[in-house]
Amino acid sequence: MISLKNLTKVYGHGEQSLTVLDNLDVDVANGEILAIVGPSGAGKSTLAQCINLLERPTSGQVIVNGEDLAQLPERKLRVARRRIGTVFQSASLLSRRTAAENIALPLQYLGVTPAETKARVGELLERVGLSHRANHYPFELSGGQLQRVGIARALALRPAVLLSDEATSGLDPETTRSVVSLLRQLRDDLDLAVVFITHEMDTVLHVADSAARLENGRITEQGSLVDLLTDHDSALGRALQPHLS
Ligand code: ADP
Ligand code: MG
Repeated sequence: MISLKNLTKVYGHGEQSLTVLDNLDVDVANGEILAIVGPSGAGKSTLAQCINLLERPTSGQVIVNGEDLAQLPERKLRVARRRIGTVFQSASLLSRRTAAENIALPLQYLGVTPAETKARVGELLERVGLSHRANHYPFELSGGQLQRVGIARALALRPAVLLSDEATSGLDPETTRSVVSLLRQLRDDLDLAVVFITHEMDTVLHVADSAARLENGRITEQGSLVDLLTDHDSALGRALQPHLS
């Protein structure tokens, strides 16, 4: 599982400083999908970057399977970061590499043998339902297929945590639902802790077990979807209600 404790991120110094994340506490268990919602500028992407340690938190902890990754020295960070797989909004695949080659990249960097890489990539393509597109280039794939390749690549190093920053934003509703149901399947099969960042309320209802609202760098509410939806005092619950169908 992953726990964020007192996570704080401040950009800049002195009078120019900006506190983007202010003392966040968040837990996500294995087999749980937590949606993090909030308006543009709330700090969602900064949170994603602090979770996968592309940015160092200013203070606080990012605990994955019992170990705090936030304060690890640089030389240990590369290995530690394998525990967190990230899917980005635009999938960000290399355009001159096929689907299979994109998924193979993290394994090649690690020096995994070609035979093992091939087997692993085949297995990942099957998991995301794209065995028939292995040798296609990104420009030959649909938006949903690109995200599936991105998800497979994020899973290549067998992470404990899957982090998604607006991965379904920009997809049409039907494609969003199919990507979301894939994420739920993977969460079950691989017992992943999933942090799903989005600004789309209807996607929250389809994907998440629990949700947290981030506003101005603070978590203003968090709970299971059931609790939020049945709590009349919950602003997040009220914001989700109209999307129930
Ligand atoms: P969201 O993803 O919720 O839209 P972001 O995390 O991208 O929000 O941004 C939150 C705030 O942090 C914004 O005010 C943004 O300008 C600021 N910010 C993001 N990245 C940086 C950075 N590298 N340096 C300075 N400020 C940043
Ligand atoms: Mg963002």
